[in-house]
Amino acid sequence: MRTILVLGGTAEARALAATLHDKPDVRVISTLAGRIANPQLPRGEVRVGGFGGAEGLAAYLREQHVDTVIDATHPFAERMSWSALEACAQTTTALMRLERPPFPRDPAIDWREVTSLHEAAILLPQAGRRVFLTTGRQGLAAFAQIENAFFLVRCVDAPDRPLPPDHELLLDRGPFELQGELALIDRHALDLLITKDSGGTMTQAKLDAACARQLPVIVVARPPRPRTETVATVEQALAWLAHAG
Ligand code: NAP
Repeated sequence: MRTILVLGGTAEARALAATLHDKPDVRVISTLAGRIANPQLPRGEVRVGGFGGAEGLAAYLREQHVDTVIDATHPFAERMSWSALEACAQTTTALMRLERPPFPRDPAIDWREVTSLHEAAILLPQAGRRVFLTTGRQGLAAFAQIENAFFLVRCVDAPDRPLPPDHELLLDRGPFELQGELALIDRHALDLLITKDSGGTMTQAKLDAACARQLPVIVVARPPRPRTETVATVEQALAWLAHAG
């Protein structure tokens, strides 16, 4: 029996776990940070909550006799990836990163790349006064002091406070469609999109909508991460596992 640990929180992690769950002689354990109220649970065994850093993860890998770790966490989940690298090195466990590619650069979009939410906030209100803010529930304090702009804040769960004084909250989970994104832009007269470079088809429509309405887009670049061997799709991850096994 081979034990595979999938560090999750993404659609790719769920898809991978679902396929592995059906394989004979494979035990797959998916893990979630446990931050959101109603997470979409992967099929099969699931562990919820942090490990207590690299040491804690290393202890868990030994205890569960894990052979392989697939780090399929979100491109912005930085700490978990560094922990996985360290824990796998300590325990000589095989490690592979499954990470979807960034959003494709559309030359028709006025695309402004920044390295943090604070850097994005500095560009306001010059870059836009009616902002579609889709960077997730964490770190929105970066915009809390901005008084002369309206923010439509969309995230899955209620965001951390403080928030900008003039905002409307929209709790929603993708996938999102182009027509819905265009309707939001029009209804709220939005003139700027701020997004993380999360990539993936589930949230691509906001960029297509921004392009159609000629909105500039501020894109927060992905954080630096370990140079772990990486694949971009679930199919590639399965091929890697078949080869490694
Ligand atoms: P992070 O900064 O890398 O993680 C913070 C801590 O949460 C980690 O040190 C770890 O705690 C725990 N943790 C994170 N992912 C875990 C997992 N899959 N299983 C068990 N523990 C985990 O990550 P984050 O940005 O807070 O994101 C948390 C989770 O949400 C991630 O799993 C990620 O895939 C998902 N997510 C994040 C974003 C985003 O924009 N950041 C978007 C969508 C989904 P210990 O140190 O105690 O082990």
